[in-house]
Amino acid sequence: MRYEKPQTVAEAARLLSAEKGLSRILAGGTDVLVQMKSGLIEPDLIVDIKALPGLRSIVAEAGGFRVGAAVAGAQLAEDRDLKKAWPGVVEAANLIGSTQVQGRCTMAGNLCNASPAADSVPALVAAGATVRIAGPGAARDVAVETIPAGPGKTTLKKGEFVTSIFLPARPARSADAYLRFIPRSEMDIAVAAAAVNLTLDAEGRVTAARVALGAVAPTVLLVEAAAAALIGSKLEEAALEKLSAACSAAAKPIDDKRGSVAYRKDVVGVLAKRAARIAYTRAGGKQ
Ligand SMILES: Cc1cc2nc3c(=O)[nH]c(=O)nc-3n(C[C@H](O)[C@H](O)[C@H](O)COP(=O)(O)OP(=O)(O)OC[C@H]3O[C@@H](n4cnc5c(N)ncnc54)[C@H](O)[C@@H]3O)c2cc1C
Repeated sequence: MRYEKPQTVAEAARLLSAEKGLSRILAGGTDVLVQMKSGLIEPDLIVDIKALPGLRSIVAEAGGFRVGAAVAGAQLAEDRDLKKAWPGVVEAANLIGSTQVQGRCTMAGNLCNASPAADSVPALVAAGATVRIAGPGAARDVAVETIPAGPGKTTLKKGEFVTSIFLPARPARSADAYLRFIPRSEMDIAVAAAAVNLTLDAEGRVTAARVALGAVAPTVLLVEAAAAALIGSKLEEAALEKLSAACSAAAKPIDDKRGSVAYRKDVVGVLAKRAARIAYTRAGGKQ
């Protein structure tokens, strides 16, 4: 196995493109090193992206935030402006693992590891975040939800990797929230999860909404019918019931010892309702 720590994005892309065998990016390593130690993967090439310029910083851009692909969870938590603008995204990323894991884990790694239960991904999708991809061709920006292709699989092509995640500017009276259910009190992966991102008008009516679900399908689900249920409402019970029903209907979960299909469908609807209430209050709405 070769370990490389390139100093430029172009060099990283060249290394990844030229490798004939199995290659992996090393960001925080909290997935990739566990997979190597347990014998699940044996990469021929490891490309550490932590020395690439700009990958460890959070920069204001066009009223939003560009978060480098090697920014760790703990660093997100310390950025007060980011936390104020996108509390749901930061709380989702900060649910990953423990204090030790937070010192290393990245949102880009969480996304590209492509676990259906990845905590930061529904929040990023609800936020309308995009990722910047570098590779052998020109850099391109795509919506976060286009990256996961199934458990452990992404749509990234040979030689491509994520250099940053962009969280857009927010209109006034906007906020987001993320909730997951885990059977244990911590250090567990989601059985179901929901993220809600809302914008309100001056009267507290929802004018824009995005709802994304985690752990209830092979990839994150952006549920347009759930968002539509909230638009025009002041989060009255009828709107919340419609939101919940739309989420339960959209969910296509697995059936295992951690939760049956019926249970996960039910729980995801409840979580979406609760996350909507939190986002609404954060955006300044009165219930
Ligand atoms: C004890 C423990 C608890 C955990 N708890 C949770 C939890 O509660 N919730 C949760 O969602 N996850 C959890 N995880 C999983 C893991 O911590 C997260 O998925 C984390 O965000 C991965 O980020 P990383 O930077 O460490 O990724 P890495 O391990 O460095 O990489 C993960 C994968 O993504 C690829 N990759 C990384 N960065 C990029 C990039 N920029 N472009 C393209 N591909 C890339 C790598 O090639 C690799 O396949 C836990 C892990 C541990 C060990």
